[in-house]
Amino acid sequence: MRPPLNIVWLKKDLRLSDHAPFAAALQDQSAPFIALHCFEPSVQNSPSWDARHWWFTYHSLVDMRPRLAENGIALYHFHQELIPLLEQLQQCYCIQHIYSHEETGIGITYERDKALKVWCEEQHVQWTEFACNGVERGRKNRDQWSRNWAKTMKAPIIFPDWTQAQAFHLTDDVVQLLEQDQEELPIGVISLSAPFVPDPVYQTPGETVAKTILQSFIDKRHAKYFNNISKPLASRTYCSRLSAHLAYGNLSIRQAYQAAIKAGATKNKHLGEFASRLIWHCHFIQKFEMEDRMEFENQNSAFNGIRVKWDQKKFDAWKEGRTGYPLVDACMRCVKETGYLNFRMRAMVVSFLTHHLWLDWRKGAHYLAGMFLDFEPGIHYPQFQMQSGCTGANTIRIYNPVKQSYDKDPNAEFILQWVPELSILPPGLCHEPWKVSPMEQMMYNFQIGRDYPKPIVDLKSSQQKASAELHRVKKTLRAKQEATRIIARHVRSPKRRLKALG
Ligand SMILES: Cc1cc2nc3c(=O)[nH]c(=O)nc-3n(C[C@H](O)[C@H](O)[C@H](O)COP(=O)(O)OP(=O)(O)OC[C@H]3O[C@@H](n4cnc5c(N)ncnc54)[C@H](O)[C@@H]3O)c2cc1C
Repeated sequence: MRPPLNIVWLKKDLRLSDHAPFAAALQDQSAPFIALHCFEPSVQNSPSWDARHWWFTYHSLVDMRPRLAENGIALYHFHQELIPLLEQLQQCYCIQHIYSHEETGIGITYERDKALKVWCEEQHVQWTEFACNGVERGRKNRDQWSRNWAKTMKAPIIFPDWTQAQAFHLTDDVVQLLEQDQEELPIGVISLSAPFVPDPVYQTPGETVAKTILQSFIDKRHAKYFNNISKPLASRTYCSRLSAHLAYGNLSIRQAYQAAIKAGATKNKHLGEFASRLIWHCHFIQKFEMEDRMEFENQNSAFNGIRVKWDQKKFDAWKEGRTGYPLVDACMRCVKETGYLNFRMRAMVVSFLTHHLWLDWRKGAHYLAGMFLDFEPGIHYPQFQMQSGCTGANTIRIYNPVKQSYDKDPNAEFILQWVPELSILPPGLCHEPWKVSPMEQMMYNFQIGRDYPKPIVDLKSSQQKASAELHRVKKTLRAKQEATRIIARHVRSPKRRLKALG
């Protein structure tokens, strides 16, 4: 007879604390359980993911493993599709119950979840999913959403009762069987017993570090948060820098939110702004949960016919940081190298791609998803559509990268860090190098077009063209009907927003 087995299936909830699936599996004394993570090739091969994401996942698991082992729980990871793996496991054990968090993922993970549901029904395996960060499945509108969310955030942190753990390991034979169909492991993923080597540029993964980062923000860094949130350089120190940890679930939103409230977020402006962004985090994911086609389609279909012409050269220049606009180029080079940009700079590079270069958002969204270490589909796609002006329900914002440069990086420190070829110029000339006079070019031995690209687009005319076209579409009946639908579905008090729409 096959021995009974339960599974805690880990996805983007890579922590031990405030973890409902662990708590439930520990309470369920009908069978021992293992913790399981699958690096699924189908997800890895999708255009939104990059090796940096697997690196972060893997090292988050490395951080968990010894702490789970102390409690007698074995953690396994395999590089294989989930369902074939479960089928093999099912030959050796009688899987009774799978515990996991709900995931608001991309199309591929949604299809996998649907297939898993069918498989569980066929195999008489119970699958219990727990809501994640107050995001609710199956909603049709936002009635009561904020109230429910606040209730979830105020509820006590879950402390799984590890004393109930039943020590258990898969036998070596079974592990060998499961490993035989594994594909080659992704870059940087070697073995869970390999020592952790911090990366010099990426943020360090794992629950242990996440808690330290949260504490340092709550204790000290928050004091300069809101004054620096839009600056490309200072934001790297004074923003919380929790996004990757929240995306992989090294921390729950509740843990961050309760820490902010406890430290005085209701009275302190900076902590209050931080706490409100934690609400936005879940608000955007809820939006995507309720309208996941936003990964593929314009949320407002009236915008379907615009930006039809593709220009690969311009797209490549944007990707590689060769647009001739120093702040845009610095951002694109920086995100490629480090995986991080603050909100304003993300909005600006998307605005540059979609408004100034007038290129469709989809390829850009995939590219930046791969670059953002904190890629969170539920935030990324709705933000991308909002910034590219395709919702019809939000204000159209076209950022001027030159103005942003003078305002947010006045001494060009960030620019010079990432566009060092401009360092032969005095910092004051780095914002608009195409304006350097022939005399100055001679003095500094700098030639525009040779040492740094000429601007690939004229800002004024591209801004005017984009604005005119977006406002024209926004005023059409179809765009307004769609905006009305979007607002009714995703806004808490739609009446006020609809009035503003006119
Ligand atoms: C085009 C575009 C794509 C984006 N893609 C992502 C993404 O894939 N993953 C991601 O986590 N954030 C994304 N953001 C939102 C935002 O830029 C980042 O959350 C933020 O810069 C992360 O830095 P931080 O943790 O220091 O933020 P803080 O300012 O310290 O904020 C704390 C937390 O609040 C949440 N948050 C902050 N700003 C926003 C926002 N505008 N919308 C929703 N949640 C927010 C994040 O979880 C963040 O970690 C995107 C923004 C834009 C414009």
